[in-house]
Amino acid sequence: MNRDLKYLSNDPREREFVEITRCATNMMAIQLTLIAALEAIIPNVSTRSSIKLHIIGAAAVEFNSIPAFKELSHLLPSLVVLHLSFVGLNVRGPTNDPESHSPHTRQCCTMCTKMGRTISITSWRGPYHAYLETEFYKTPDLAAAFHSGFSVNQQSD
Ligand SMILES: [Zn+2]
Repeated sequence: MNRDLKYLSNDPREREFVEITRCATNMMAIQLTLIAALEAIIPNVSTRSSIKLHIIGAAAVEFNSIPAFKELSHLLPSLVVLHLSFVGLNVRGPTNDPESHSPHTRQCCTMCTKMGRTISITSWRGPYHAYLETEFYKTPDLAAAFHSGFSVNQQSD
């Protein structure tokens, strides 16, 4: 296959491999984008033991992709603690009080559990600029907004 995930030959096995790769790429678009952004802004990201991410404008797409966040641990070998904060007007949950804001911890696979890796998740309903004023806000390594309505055609150097 070529770099655009198109098959180059008419081999049925290659076609199946390309289809699976396309599916996996789609399922992991958020996580792969975050890793690309982290690599662009943190030169030594592969040696970091802790990373804090804010997902701005989080909604169903982002919440449904929570299981795929374990791949950040798998692709960043030194990562032990991954903090995720989902912030947005469509965040589920009844309130923004401290009790409901306490982190929900997810375990990864058996290997990651043995290594002590954890993924802690908090969520806050409301606009990000209001979240900045709360006691829950901690400066993230990266804040990202998906499906924000903004797009960039070229990356500047
Ligand atoms: Zn794992």
